[in-house]
Amino acid sequence: MSETNAAHAKQAFYAGLDDKLGKLRQDGLYKSERVIASRQGAQVACDDGRTLINLCANNYLGLSGDESMVQASIAATEKYGYGLSSVRFICGTQTVHKQLERALSDFVGMEDTILYAAAFDANGGLFEPLFDEQDAIISDALNHASIIDGIRLCKAARYRYQHNDMADLETQLQAAADKRHKVIVTDGVFSMDGTIAQLDKICDLADKYGALVMIDECHASGFMGKTGRGTHEHHNVLGRVDIITGTLGKALGGAMGGFTAARKEVIDTLRQKSRPYLFSNTLAPSIAGASLAVLQRLSTSTELRDRLHANTAHFRREIAQLGFTIKPGTHPVVPVMLFDAPLAQQFAARLYELGVLVTGFFYPVVPMGQARVRVQLSAAHTTEQLDRALAAFAQAGRELGLIAH
Ligand SMILES: *Cc1c(COP(=O)(O)O)cnc(C)c1O
Repeated sequence: MSETNAAHAKQAFYAGLDDKLGKLRQDGLYKSERVIASRQGAQVACDDGRTLINLCANNYLGLSGDESMVQASIAATEKYGYGLSSVRFICGTQTVHKQLERALSDFVGMEDTILYAAAFDANGGLFEPLFDEQDAIISDALNHASIIDGIRLCKAARYRYQHNDMADLETQLQAAADKRHKVIVTDGVFSMDGTIAQLDKICDLADKYGALVMIDECHASGFMGKTGRGTHEHHNVLGRVDIITGTLGKALGGAMGGFTAARKEVIDTLRQKSRPYLFSNTLAPSIAGASLAVLQRLSTSTELRDRLHANTAHFRREIAQLGFTIKPGTHPVVPVMLFDAPLAQQFAARLYELGVLVTGFFYPVVPMGQARVRVQLSAAHTTEQLDRALAAFAQAGRELGLIAH
């Protein structure tokens, strides 16, 4: 290719990207990043100097910016150093990683646990080592992107059931009847709606059809159930779920890291075959040590979990009282429905001016016509902060004609 033709070919690539980005902006679907200049917390300082009440972090237990976490991560860094420069099976496993795996197993009630750099990797590396073309994966239609990608990498037959629809799940189990192994796969909690999977019914169907059950506990570990073990505790099916994946990047401290917990045979197999584990660096010791401290704390006290649920109940009651449409439920994810994408953007922007940080969500993150701001409560919020946020919702809601004067 001549030099000018090569230049034109490249130019066409960049121009194509520019066009697509322009189209996103035009449609009001372009996402930009909010820059925070402080620690994560109930309140944050933005880079424009403003302090905002933060209602959009996955900081359910309020630990992300907490001083106890900073100190625990410094202590682990002092003891174990900054990083390992290695995958786990070469020279990347320290005592703190084994201790954390043990603590996670005990916390979620499983035999063994394997750590990953992220829950995205835990899900991405889960299915391919365990299931092949003779098997069936039966997956909720609204499962997280990382589950969908993980299933794509696996040769098992795929069956998709309508979201949270137990009759359709049964239909799909029947359709998969001639497959060797069957596994039902679901988010424990669906993060866009705060919907809690019907795990009691799912486990009953699994028993009826001889299927395994896998749950992704990213929006549950640490605070769902009466001692915060997760959705399986919430639904009283501890011991009936086969595989749990979760994150260290939300309630359990908020840095990063993921895990899969299951029986020894499963975890051993993943250690031999799971590609994000075999071919990616080990979790930083600071994160492993601080996560271990979190689990020790949560195993001795439900204080944070209890405060989170009290805050959630308060906010849900008051926001409905103001006349907003929310998705009903009990989870600290509270979708305040605007339905229209540009309106959700406008509402979030006005709330920002009024000192409240929330994000508008719209297609393709949620279905078309289901735009919303998703409020997420934290144990770190004070009642006073929540009431100030509610007053801002009321004002912005009246200004935009969403609620009556
Ligand atoms: C956030 C999330 C993940 C990804 O977690 P990371 O540890 O940030 O990679 C996976 N699944 C679900 C359901 C999530 O909400």
